[in-house]
Amino acid sequence: MSFTEILDRTDISRLVETIAGTSTSQVEAVLGKAEVNFSDFLALLSPAGENYLEEMAEQAQAITLRRFGRVILLYAPLYLSNVCSNSCVYCGFNVTRDVPRITLDIDEILSEAAHLKKWGFGHVLLVSGEAPKVLPVARLREIIQALSLDFPSLSLEIYPLSGPAYAQMAEAGADGLTLYQETYDRQVYASVHPRGKKRDFNWRLEAVERAGDVGFRRIGIGSLLGLNDWRWEGIALALHADYLMKRYWQTQITISFPRLRNIPGDFQPAYPVNDTSLVQLMLALRLFLNDAGFVISTREPASLRDHLIPLCVTQMSAGSRTEPGGYRHPVQEGAQFVVEDQRWPEEVAAAILKSGYEPVWKDWDYVMHEGSEHADHHKRDVQGSV
Ligand code: SF4
Repeated sequence: MSFTEILDRTDISRLVETIAGTSTSQVEAVLGKAEVNFSDFLALLSPAGENYLEEMAEQAQAITLRRFGRVILLYAPLYLSNVCSNSCVYCGFNVTRDVPRITLDIDEILSEAAHLKKWGFGHVLLVSGEAPKVLPVARLREIIQALSLDFPSLSLEIYPLSGPAYAQMAEAGADGLTLYQETYDRQVYASVHPRGKKRDFNWRLEAVERAGDVGFRRIGIGSLLGLNDWRWEGIALALHADYLMKRYWQTQITISFPRLRNIPGDFQPAYPVNDTSLVQLMLALRLFLNDAGFVISTREPASLRDHLIPLCVTQMSAGSRTEPGGYRHPVQEGAQFVVEDQRWPEEVAAAILKSGYEPVWKDWDYVMHEGSEHADHHKRDVQGSV
């Protein structure tokens, strides 16, 4: 069964209404538990749960340490093109916006990549708008092949592909896919995606399963926080991540928490999410989904990102530019979104060290988690297979 069916069978609005009545004693009962099930997660996500962030943070920290060790994986986005045929109302690359459109050629991509390599990155996220005409599958293959010589881990954040096309990407050297559904609410989805291929909700939602089926090693999902009620999206995210973790148990499932703020143009999010709500969402998900990787990008300010390091985060971007060619020629024009944390990568790494964690520049490996449950789990797998 695909996740589309599960989503359509679940009355998330009713669950949101129900948890509005959760009592503090129900939340307290969950906080003592060694394992948090889906109903428990709902209690933690409830309005009453907001009064227990400190207790949740303590548990989230302990779980994250046990599962992932004291490491934070650093990565950087590399924008290939800002050409896009879609008109997502919240995006700086929206086809209706009058911004310079740039698609990098292979030499320019390698030159951008050289900056990232010089800074120490081994994990790069290749990003583009929905531009199959300027970035067809064959071209993406060439790019991945060229970059895989220098980068041990390449993830894609591009338009949804077919299963055979994902297989080609994996064969060329891509090992990860990040694809946010943006919102799991079909009505909201239709209203913020007025035209283009992206209007096809199911094609997008099922893309991560197509990638999982061909063996992608890491799959990232997320909601754009601000498009819809954050508790509604939090429930959908929990269900989606749980489904993927069970179906693709050998794949690292990650959840990102992109919050809509400071968007180019005049778009204003209908459901702005404050810091407290963002933290509650992350902590509740961590207590429910112990093994999911949590990603926090440079959309968030440095102070909040630093605060989140010891709580539940496992991956952070650093030094990001969100316009094609931005590492060589930084300009804000043509950017997808405004970067809040403008620190250099080495400054982000220093902040991680200061928090008592180790910044990891290349794709993680279970060896780096020596002593953690994650490492022990892999060791048992390896031992069992010889
Ligand atoms: S969010 Fe993606 S698909 Fe939508 S306009 Fe921006 S780049 Fe294009």
